[in-house]
Parts: sequence; C-alpha cells; structure tokens
Amino acid sequence: LRVYYNSLGTPEMYAMIAARMGEGLELVTLDTDDDAERKAKIAECEVAIVAAKPLTAEVISAAKKLELVHHQGVGYHDTVATDALAARGIRLALTPEGTTIGVAEHTVLLALGAARRAAFADAELRQGRWHVNALRPVSVELFDKTVGFIGFGRIGQEAARRFAAFGTRRLYHDPAVPASADLPAEPAAFDDVIAQSDILSLHLPLSDATSHLISAEVIGRMKPEAILVNTARGGIVDDAALASALADGRLLAAGLDVFEGEPIDPDNPFCGLPNVFLTPHISAGTRDALGHKMTALFANIDRFRNG
Ligand code: NAD
Repeated sequence: LRVYYNSLGTPEMYAMIAARMGEGLELVTLDTDDDAERKAKIAECEVAIVAAKPLTAEVISAAKKLELVHHQGVGYHDTVATDALAARGIRLALTPEGTTIGVAEHTVLLALGAARRAAFADAELRQGRWHVNALRPVSVELFDKTVGFIGFGRIGQEAARRFAAFGTRRLYHDPAVPASADLPAEPAAFDDVIAQSDILSLHLPLSDATSHLISAEVIGRMKPEAILVNTARGGIVDDAALASALADGRLLAAGLDVFEGEPIDPDNPFCGLPNVFLTPHISAGTRDALGHKMTALFANIDRFRNG
C-alpha cells in the first residue's frame, strides 16, 4: 500500500514515521505545500494521513485509489472534507490517544506564559532590555485562581488535573460530561464559567455551533483582567475582538496556539501585543505524541489491510 502524507514535514519526522511502518508500505511525502503536487501524489495512494493541513474535497477528487484516510489527531471536523469521503465510501479513522497529554501540558505552558509575559520578557532580554520593574506589576500567579474549561473531554480533563497541582479552583462547561467526584473540576453553566474564570481555557471542537462562540459580547462578560487560553481551534474565538480587548487592557493576557486563518502574518494584531504568548499550532506536536500516534495509526492500517 502507498501511504500519502498530506502535510509538509521534516526529514526527521518522515524518518520517525517510516520507522513505525509495517512491511509492504511505502510513504509518499510532499516536496512543496502546493495543491497541484498534492493531487498528483494522492492519485497513486490507497491510504492518506492527515495532520494539521486540511484534506480538501478538491484533493480527494484526485484520489482515485483512496480507501482509507487516517487523521493523525482528533479535530477532523475542519481538517477533512468528510462529505467528499462519505460520498465515495472512503473510511476515516482518528488517533485520539497520542494528542491528549501534549495539548494538556501546552495548555499549562500557555497559561503560565501569558500570566508571566514570558514571550515578551524573553524577546526583550534578547534585545538587551532588562524590564524587571515593568514586568513585576503585570505578572500573576495561578494559585487561588479559578480556571474555567469550555469543553471537558480528554484534553480538558487532563489539563484540569495539571492545573489542580497549582492550587486552583476549577469549573467546566460541557453538556456531554455529567458531574462526577472523579473529575478534576465542577460543572457549571456556560455563563457562570465565563463570568467566574480568571483563566478561561477552550477544549471543544470547531463547528458551525461553536464558530465565534467566544464573541466580543462573551469577552465583554469575562472577568476584567482574565486570561484566555486557546489550544482548541482558531475560529472558536473572534480573534479581532480578542486582540482589541487585550490592547485595551480589558483582558490581562492570552495564550494562543491556534488562530483564525493559519499561519498568521507578523502584522497580525496579536504579534504587536506584549500580553500575548503565541505558539504556531504545536501543542500536540511533541516527539512523544508523534511516536504514540504513528504506532497507533500503523497498527490501525495493518488491521485495515488484514480486513
Ligand atoms: P474530546 O472529544 O475528548 O472533547 C471535546 C469535548 O467538547 C466533548 O466532551 C464535547 O462534549 C465538548 N463540546 C462540544 N461542543 C461543546 C460546546 N458547545 N460547549 C461545551 N463543550 C462542548 O476532544 P479532545 O481530545 O479533548 O480535544 C478537544 C479539542 O482540542 C479538539 O476538538 C481539537 O479541536 C483540539 N485539539 C487541538 C490540538 C492542537 O494541536 N492545538 C490538538 C488536538 C486537539
């Protein structure tokens, strides 16, 4: 079987992937981030692996031999044209296992990085500017703060376990997750989580129902000087409204791994703000996670080809 990889990776990534492939599989990788090359390469492949880069209906239309699409993560709603797959009976498989811990740990990094203006401090220091007094009054601790989770599945729960170690109070809103003493947070209505959180963290999928869920109006109901953390998906937050609340000092800070329209440009409003900690959609992209995901993914592909 030929296995097509839809995102542009590095030679190290391809070597890690190839090391986990079973007998008789051939990895087909891209040399450019170009749809023409995508269509030419996928046309020869029976299996496609999807990472961050969306697999569009147009690319799928060129995939005449395609039988299985394997997402290397969980958030497939916006990365796979599922209608185009369903119309041709092509199966879609997910790899939820590997991403959870990496994103949960990154959520804590973004909260701390935003709370301490870590990216700004580091960038200034590299320019020879030692801003000790400017940073002290704007930095906050996590201890005794309320952390609110919108979406409380695998990642939200693992993140909450980690925030518990900081001595925080924790609330969640997720209609699918009933209260339980085993959970590391208390359930609450959406409006209460918004109004009570010092740190609001998003862990739900992007869909028509959740697009701009965190709107200007919702941001206006957050605590003054709250911190917003988004490792879920760009588009759940109205980025323009968020940037303006951060510029006004209405919110204290934000930690963002995902954006509306990725990649973002240096002239994006977030890039000019000292109270934003930014990463380029890497929260799930640890070496550990990639290893776990590829092991699970190729075990699945083996099950598929063995019927
Ligand atoms: P999950 O399916 O285990 O949990 C998602 C939860 O969101 C579910 O419990 C669901 O009931 C809840 N939910 C859906 N709509 C909601 C709404 N309107 N309000 C409140 N809750 C709602 O998924 P997960 O593994 O925890 O991943 C969460 C999200 O993180 C994914 O959807 C994905 O978009 C994102 N993610 C991002 C990265 C990254 O690289 N930044 C990596 C992996 C996952």
